[in-house]
Amino acid sequence: MEKSQAATKTLESFYKLHQKVALLFSGGKDSLALLYLAKPWWDRTYVVWVNTQCNFPEMHRFMEHIQRMVPHFIEVKSNTLKFINTYGFPSDVVVSEQADGAVFAGEGTPQMCSKFECCQHNLWRPIWEFMKSTDATGFLKGQKYTDHLRAPWVDKFNIGDKKLELAYPIADWSDEDVRRYLACQSVEIDERLRLPHSSLDCWCCTAYWDQMKSRLKYMERHHPDKAVYVKSVVARIKDAVKAELTKLEEV
Ligand code: SF4
Repeated sequence: MEKSQAATKTLESFYKLHQKVALLFSGGKDSLALLYLAKPWWDRTYVVWVNTQCNFPEMHRFMEHIQRMVPHFIEVKSNTLKFINTYGFPSDVVVSEQADGAVFAGEGTPQMCSKFECCQHNLWRPIWEFMKSTDATGFLKGQKYTDHLRAPWVDKFNIGDKKLELAYPIADWSDEDVRRYLACQSVEIDERLRLPHSSLDCWCCTAYWDQMKSRLKYMERHHPDKAVYVKSVVARIKDAVKAELTKLEEV
């Protein structure tokens, strides 16, 4: 496979520049493909996972399996449910009276917050803190050009005096390239790895609505109680957003 050879070349060059590398591992198909590609360098690689403590049980089992497989597995913890209890459920659209404005509306605890605020607190900031403290100078991400939500393509950056570098060895792969490559590594492409959002992240997530339908179908089949709960919260968010839109229509 031509693309995997090109990705391996990128990794070879990257590992020549960096003695210690950290692979940002969500457990989704892209970072899993990256993990297999980086196998020749596993002894110099930290595999870093943010445990939001709101995982699906299968993801927990999967991470235990990866932990046994690689020499350096690092778990960074956050606490999504605690965050939600304080700032509200993540939503793609935020009604201010039910979010930070809840305090002013006299409603007490906010009921919703921006999904990016939630991800920032529970996924991205813990990674940033890890970057500050680790002796790794290179970081690998499985981000692709075709991903519908992408972080900025930062390559070189500094944290204080530390010079760090990010690489994206499978940036030009498609989802199907990734699945084909994993199948060649004898990874079973199960129902989760066929999902658009295969890392699953937090089971309690009520945001990322474009992926909610396939995610809820998966949850209904495998975690019906959790599906009922998430659907009930999403219904409340929907009502709140609709009520605001009605006000807007009247302006
Ligand atoms: S995936 Fe959802 S619940 Fe998890 S941190 Fe991001 S917004 Fe919050």
